[in-house]
Formats: sequence, C-alpha cells, structure tokens
Amino acid sequence: MNEQLISFIRDYFGTSDFIPLHAPVFSGREKDYVVDTIDSTFVSSVGAYVDRFEQDMASYTGAPRAVATVNGTAALHIALRLAGVESGDLVITQPLTFVATCNAIAYCGAEPVFVDVDRHTLGLSPQALETWLEDNAQLDAEGVCRAKADNKAIRACVPMHTFGHPADLDGLVAVCQRWNLNLVEDAAESLGSFYKGRHTGTFGALGTLSFNGNKIMTTGGGGMILAGEELGAHAKHLTTTAKKPHPYEYIHDEVGYNYRLPNLNAALGCAQLEQLESFIEAKRALAAGYEAFFRGGDIEFVKEPAECRSNYWLNAVVCENKAQRDALLKSTNDQGVMTRPIWALMNHLAMYQQCRKGDLHNAEWLEARVVNLPSSVVVKAG
Ligand SMILES: *Cc1c(COP(=O)(O)O)cnc(C)c1O
Repeated sequence: MNEQLISFIRDYFGTSDFIPLHAPVFSGREKDYVVDTIDSTFVSSVGAYVDRFEQDMASYTGAPRAVATVNGTAALHIALRLAGVESGDLVITQPLTFVATCNAIAYCGAEPVFVDVDRHTLGLSPQALETWLEDNAQLDAEGVCRAKADNKAIRACVPMHTFGHPADLDGLVAVCQRWNLNLVEDAAESLGSFYKGRHTGTFGALGTLSFNGNKIMTTGGGGMILAGEELGAHAKHLTTTAKKPHPYEYIHDEVGYNYRLPNLNAALGCAQLEQLESFIEAKRALAAGYEAFFRGGDIEFVKEPAECRSNYWLNAVVCENKAQRDALLKSTNDQGVMTRPIWALMNHLAMYQQCRKGDLHNAEWLEARVVNLPSSVVVKAG
C-alpha cells in the first residue's frame, strides 16, 4: 500500500528526486512586476502594487475591503483587535490549527478557549460550540456573552478552514449570532475556497488570509484582512502606524502598528493572484487523483464538504489508527516523499495547556490519524 502510494506520487510529480509537501510556483509575471518596483524605487511602504493587490483581492473574494499586511498572523492580530478583543477576554477557537491562530489571540492579552472540530470538515463544530456555550456561558444584561465561572467576556469566535476545506459556516454564523460573538474567520489556508458560492473569510465581521511561502499563493511573506468598509478603513489605519493623512505633518491618533505589506511583496502577490485559478485547477486535479487512488481502501481521503468548493491547499488522509499513520509517515519520508502529521493540538502546547476547553474527542481522534500528502501545483503537459 505505502509502496503503491509512493509510486503514484512519483509518477504524478514526474520525478525521482525529493518531493516536498508544498513548493511555490512562479510561472507568470512575477519577475516583471518585482523588477518594476525596483526600477520605480518604490519597494517599501508606498507603491501602486499594494493598492492594486488590495483591490484585486477584494474583487476576487467579494469582500468590500481587503487590507494587505506583513503576514497572516499580523492580519489576525489586527482583526481580533477590531472585533473588540481586549486584555482579559476569552476567544473561542479550535484546538486543531496552526499555532498562529492562538498566538494572535494571546497578543491581544486574551485567552483561547478550545472547542471541538467536526470530523468531516476538520473545522470548528457548531454543535460543540453551542454545547460549550450552554454549559459555560450566559448573556449579561447588556447582551455581552460571559463565562459563568469568572464573568470574563467571551468576545469572539475564530474558526479555521483547515487545509482549505470550509468549516460549517451556516451553523457557526447562527451560533455566533445567538450568543453575540464576533465571528473572525482564520482563512489563512482557504484562499479560493467557497462555501455555498461565497468566499471563506467573508462570513463574519472580519476574515484573514496568509501568503506565506507554503500557502496556495505567496508574496514571500504576507497576509490580508477582509472586512466591510468601516472596519476595513480602520484596519488600514491601524496597520499603517495610525497616521492621519497630511502632506507633511506626522500626527498619529492611536497606537498603531507597522504591519503594512511592502510594495515589493505586493508586486509578487499581483502576479501570483493572476494565476490563482490555474493553481486551484491543478490542485483539484491532484486531489481527484488521490481520491481515486484511496477509493475503497482503509485509508480515507479528506474530501471537500458538501456545497463547498475547496482549494485543496494541502491534501490529507485519515488513517485507521496511529500505527498505520506512523508506518505511512516513515515509509514515505524514508523514500524522499515528504508527508507530515497534522499539528499537535493547541491544548497540548506548554503555553496553552491551562486554557479552558470543551470535550475534544474529534480533535484527539484526528490528531492521531491525519497525514498531509505532497500537494504542490503540477502543471501537466498537454
Ligand atoms: C499560515 C497560517 C497563518 C498565518 O501565517 P503567517 O505565516 O503569519 O502568514 C495563520 N493561521 C493558519 C491556520 C495558518 O495556516
């Protein structure tokens, strides 16, 4: 089985060399645009590519405003601040995520609360969220959701669209509305993924993207905040040192951040975005190949949820048990085909192990079984 998989992957990628989990592809106008910024001398905090990248991303996602940032973690930090998250607050998220989700919560001085994921979406479960809130929260006289235990405000809820597969957004929106929670989507992995025809990251008050080197498209390092007009304008202000517009005076009206994306990186982003649909097509073709390979076997390929179009950023399988997972990881990596287990759960990390949590049996179950497979864009000839 593992040997057949390795042959399948080597055939598909057409190489006997090392096959990484994910490598970026620069087959468009990247060099032209980057050289253009150098020729113009505007490589840094001012430049036309930043505006263009933001506009292109707003129209692609359908978000009224898109604000470029230095990375996805910074985007999430600002999104949480704009969702009203303050020191001493609680923010609900999933334990099955990349550490950046929790770190952004911690940067606000807030504490993550871990609620279980759904097995089929790998994203935050609306049922688990409702159950945790019924057991542990109440709305106060002003309608603020508070923990029964210590009255701390539960300000926001941050689902993450794992490996590009949309979480159950209808369910999450409904629970968040019932409990007055600000929905902030960590859509770092799901650029190009749609839930019932609408782009992930546009369902809550704010959403965030990442353009790190391993994501579906890259700016080297970079991120984006998706928001409505008003919050988007405030996001732009906060990420650009909160400077009041003026031809020469330096007046800043709040503690801002230097989180803006340099023009050099935005140039790369504009060229990558032009190819995004072709990247997604290639990834979906690879996913279809994996799906056919695993059909009928004892390892389950993770498919896009119903009524969703997933970008299939990272392909994943669920093994029957941990022993099968470990054997798969060992034989592939030993033979130069990179595979990786899913992240250690956030509640197992030293800095988050004291945090509140609900019943996490799906996350624990998946932690022992999920493996990511090579997922780079392959441009098939003919
Ligand atoms: C990549 C990623 C981020 C942001 O990462 P940056 O490297 O800061 O751009 C945030 N959350 C998740 C789930 C991610 O995968």
